Amino acid sequence: MKIISRKEAKKQGLKRYFTGKSCKHGHICEKYISGHCIECLDKRNKNRKEYFINYYEKNTEHIKEYEKTRYKTNPEYKKEWGKEWRQEHPAENAAKTAKRRSAKLQRTPIWLTKDELNQIQVLYKRSMFLTKLYGTSFHVDHIIPLCGVDENGKESVCGLHTLLNLQILIGTKNREKWNKFIIN
Ligand SMILES: [Zn+2]
Repeated sequence: MKIISRKEAKKQGLKRYFTGKSCKHGHICEKYISGHCIECLDKRNKNRKEYFINYYEKNTEHIKEYEKTRYKTNPEYKKEWGKEWRQEHPAENAAKTAKRRSAKLQRTPIWLTKDELNQIQVLYKRSMFLTKLYGTSFHVDHIIPLCGVDENGKESVCGLHTLLNLQILIGTKNREKWNKFIIN
């Protein structure tokens, strides 16, 4: 593997780089441009996945029962996910859908504060506002995709559902026209 500094790799627009030095856990392998050791991240992702699978398997019945009762006994909960609610709250709905999607991919960090979640929702509201204002679609985009795929079709970059990783972008159709319109 070619040895290259992170700075140089960044300059060349590479997604990975190899310094020849080991990480603090002794892996001598490539790192993502974010500075994370690939083997370390792999291990962490695997551990996390196993933990969730284990938890779900052990508590499947309990989880299902809980969801069922909650849906039946709590009209607010039912309403919350109702069509009407979604129509009345498009921005909240978009924020929630994104959060749900990222949770499914396990990309919403558990350390995310309520405040940050609210700020994320504000971002979705802002994109709706811009959509109305300019009469063209804006959407909230993950700067680093929640789950990216590299040239070999293998999952590589995995961004987080956090404020820092979100930006408002103009919809694909009009992107050329508004090329530089990026709001954070
Ligand atoms: Zn490592």
